Amino acid sequence: MELTPVRVGMMDSRRPESVLDLPVRHLGAAERMWRATRKVLGVSGVLLLVGNVLLLMLPFPHLHLCLFPLAVVLGPLLGWFAWRDKVVLGACALNCPRCHGTIAVPEGAMGWPARFNCEACGIMVELNAVDR
Ligand SMILES: [Zn+2]
Repeated sequence: MELTPVRVGMMDSRRPESVLDLPVRHLGAAERMWRATRKVLGVSGVLLLVGNVLLLMLPFPHLHLCLFPLAVVLGPLLGWFAWRDKVVLGACALNCPRCHGTIAVPEGAMGWPARFNCEACGIMVELNAVDR
């Protein structure tokens, strides 16, 4: 974890964003690749396993026919989303840009962008990397 400047703004808003230093862990290319691979193998593997078990237990081949393409499409798709995440946020609290209430950022949230709801006023708060 290292303190990194982060832009805090409202989603779909042109109001000036504030910049805060938040604890962020940056993922290296190897770690991102490993996370994505794990996701692909996990999702596709579980779906293929469920599909095969269902095929053995139930005499409906269309279940298998549906789960197989799902496994082939969904696994790499979720892997792509896992690859896109470049940072892991640490637990912290920040102030809502609109109502200034406190928003708790959960440990392990992924970015960028990372999005949270303000519980007080309901807006979507968006965290982004500061462009340098
Ligand atoms: Zn708010």
